[in-house]
Amino acid sequence: MINREVELLAIGAGPANLALAVAIEELGIDGLAENTLVIERGHSIEWQRGLLLPWTKSQVAFAKDLVTLRNPRSEFTFLNYLRSVGRLDDFINMGSFTPYRLEVSGYLSWVAESLRKVRLELGCECTSVTPVRDSAGTLTGWLTKLADGSTISSRYLVIGAGRDTYVPPVLAGLPSDRLVHSTRYRTRVTALDKEQPHRVAVVGAAQSAAEMFRALHTDLPASDVSWVMRSIGLRAYDTNKFTNELYYPSYIDKVFEARPEGREQILREMHLTNYSGVETDLLQDLYTSMYLDKLSGVEQRRLVTMTDITGARAEGDEIVLELTDRRTDAVTELRRDLVFLGTGFIREMPAMVRNLSAAIGLDRIDVTRQYRLKLGEPSDAACYLQGVNEATHGIADSLLSVLGNRAADIANDVLARRAGKRTNGIHRATAEQLTPVALSADGALQT
Ligand SMILES: Cc1cc2nc3c(=O)[nH]c(=O)nc-3n(C[C@H](O)[C@H](O)[C@H](O)COP(=O)(O)OP(=O)(O)OC[C@H]3O[C@@H](n4cnc5c(N)ncnc54)[C@H](O)[C@@H]3O)c2cc1C
Repeated sequence: MINREVELLAIGAGPANLALAVAIEELGIDGLAENTLVIERGHSIEWQRGLLLPWTKSQVAFAKDLVTLRNPRSEFTFLNYLRSVGRLDDFINMGSFTPYRLEVSGYLSWVAESLRKVRLELGCECTSVTPVRDSAGTLTGWLTKLADGSTISSRYLVIGAGRDTYVPPVLAGLPSDRLVHSTRYRTRVTALDKEQPHRVAVVGAAQSAAEMFRALHTDLPASDVSWVMRSIGLRAYDTNKFTNELYYPSYIDKVFEARPEGREQILREMHLTNYSGVETDLLQDLYTSMYLDKLSGVEQRRLVTMTDITGARAEGDEIVLELTDRRTDAVTELRRDLVFLGTGFIREMPAMVRNLSAAIGLDRIDVTRQYRLKLGEPSDAACYLQGVNEATHGIADSLLSVLGNRAADIANDVLARRAGKRTNGIHRATAEQLTPVALSADGALQT
């Protein structure tokens, strides 16, 4: 079996670990960048590949890219990307702060190609991570297994592999060619015959369900589409400039330092700013489009509100959904060829993180302010979690808004631990005892 060794391994080349790669390169300290590897299971760098639809836009401003809020002078800014592809004038002339999802995706790919020292490998899927201990039982690093059977050893590990998809238990046993989570929308739809009158259900009442409902109108135009949701109807995201301030990187400290009741209130009150809602423009667009359906007597699309899916089975080539009306308790059947899930992601930690924590022997998964997994024992090794710390670091944790600063927090923590190791020989301090090292706006190390 082939084993490779790196100092820092980052799993997943989404925005989180690309921002980290940029921060590590810009710090330019003592061989860390050259000894960092990012692995990505996809064969290309794409952002949200399942719903990379031509008309979808990012919901955050272009300046909340991988680096600008940390270091606006960086060569890895979104504006520099636009300049390099010759679209800077046009983008400015468009007069919109929010880029198309496709151009965010292009930007990420450009960043990945522009890295000079950090290495990135595509088509490289991690299947498991286990802790490595020396003969005295001290945790010294991590062994990451890949789908091709090879392994990578590292002292530092950063897991930025996104969140696990949520499939409602009642639907979980359905065949995967007929039950399609939004993360697989594009791949599945392009494999279908566009001219066929497919019978389709869309499940969920938030943004990804709304995007699929809209996209199906052009992707499978002959189809009959029922959009099933528990709620009384669709709701817009709660967006205003006051609550948007709570997405600033500077708000992370406020959330992290809050007492549990305070954190709970913040997360509860901010829920509709990012979840369970649909963008106002998309709502308007959908309403207009369905109004035009009515105007022309077309009855191919409908919203089925206040409805629970209480049973589901495959019957031959059909999926039979049992629907229970929450208003009347009446039960009906809906027969479909395909069920598209806009049901989002699970809130708990991804299976990869849960399995690793179990292997370490942790009874709870908790991270420090610098996103380092609390190991409960002294160790030179460290594991960082990106994008899954909403409960402790606030609602922006899964978004682009805080990426640059979070990357600096992590890189900074790694550097501090390396520095501690060099001064103390074998470094025995727990993370909580380390002296913080600060980064200046341009990424230079301040001690
Ligand atoms: C449809 C959609 C639209 C969104 N729009 C916005 C938006 O407009 N603005 C915003 O701020 N946020 C948005 N988000 C939130 C989104 O989570 C973040 O923008 C961002 O993508 C998070 O980055 P990440 O790197 O943490 O995770 P991801 O983007 O999920 O990237 C994780 C990467 O890890 C790879 N990976 C996973 N498992 C493995 C493995 N085992 N081995 C190797 N590689 C692996 C994946 O292929 C992927 O490339 C959106 C989310 C969705 C689903």
